[in-house]
Amino acid sequence: MVLEKNTICSGGSYPAGAFLAPKISKPSPYKNYLNDAFLFSTSFYKKAFPELFYQCGLKKIPLDETDIKRCKSYEPFIEFPYTKEKDNYFFPDAGIINPVKLCHALLKDIDVKENYHVKDIDNLSCKHLIIAVGSDKLPIEIPYIQTKNIAGYRYDVKFDHDTNQKFNIHKNLSISAYHNNGVAIGATHIKPNHLTNLKMQADNDTFGLLEKAQKLQPLKNLEVLKTYSGYRNATFDYFPIVGELIDHKCTLEKYPYIKTGAKVPTKKYDRIKGVYIHGALGSRGFVYAPYNAKLLTDLIIDNHDIQDNLSSVRLFKKWAKKLP
Ligand SMILES: Cc1cc2nc3c(=O)[nH]c(=O)nc-3n(C[C@H](O)[C@H](O)[C@H](O)COP(=O)(O)OP(=O)(O)OC[C@H]3O[C@@H](n4cnc5c(N)ncnc54)[C@H](O)[C@@H]3O)c2cc1C
Repeated sequence: MVLEKNTICSGGSYPAGAFLAPKISKPSPYKNYLNDAFLFSTSFYKKAFPELFYQCGLKKIPLDETDIKRCKSYEPFIEFPYTKEKDNYFFPDAGIINPVKLCHALLKDIDVKENYHVKDIDNLSCKHLIIAVGSDKLPIEIPYIQTKNIAGYRYDVKFDHDTNQKFNIHKNLSISAYHNNGVAIGATHIKPNHLTNLKMQADNDTFGLLEKAQKLQPLKNLEVLKTYSGYRNATFDYFPIVGELIDHKCTLEKYPYIKTGAKVPTKKYDRIKGVYIHGALGSRGFVYAPYNAKLLTDLIIDNHDIQDNLSSVRLFKKWAKKLP
């Protein structure tokens, strides 16, 4: 059962592009995770929702001379098929998906209670509870989960010969292939100190998204069809959070020396039984969410552990070390 305080796909998922792209970077746990998620999620969409996933490919254009060198040095670590034209990379496996249609399709056979605001989980009676509130406040007090909200806006547009737009393009912003009668342009990442009235900033294009798009590719007789805005929620290390929640009070009572950095096997940390989190999906929710949902299913059904750098373990450890 899904409890939703507004309506299906009314949160941060609604404004998403939603572009699905791999990452060119040096090998790191984050890059490995991102690319595993990309592989899993694109296969999942292709199999489960082929009519909603448009695998049109992505042309990635480096930002400048430094970025050209950076991308070149990382070529040996690119795990996905690509072709190169001058300094640009083309990833045929990348694509785009429609968030609203996807959310409705995912929830087709699920009991959904809309306009149901969960303010406190103590009143809920269930065996397994998954908290997935996006950029909203958690309905449980968990001091070690510290995340940030990053505002953004984007547009659906039309322009002359837009139907010729056959693939996504990404440089300092993304321009999608022609899809669902338009082209998506997105998105801004607005720093908290630059955020005033998000809707107004989106309506006025305060951060010059359309001007930047015109620089990337001339868009003749550009017309905005629809404006979207919303918030992403992210951790400070950009890994999402998935898995059972650590019970910070019980764990610290048992192992107070965790505060001084003592190594206690993380399996020994107490969990809040049956309470899970699935969130902090940042700017790539449509890449991460299906993969994380699979990890969560494997944990709940088959008791497969989730790696510490994805679970709430890392946030708890970091928080505990700062305690007096
Ligand atoms: C402008 C913009 C562009 C983006 N572009 C992309 C992109 O191109 N590619 C990509 O992969 N990602 C993109 N993202 C990120 C992506 O949209 C998010 O990472 C993802 O959708 C978050 O999903 P979620 O389910 O965690 O949160 P949400 O979609 O916000 O869902 C959480 C839901 O929980 C409900 N809720 C909250 N609190 C409660 C409560 N107490 N009780 C009941 N219900 C509650 C909310 O109403 C909401 O519907 C973009 C985001 C933005 C803002």
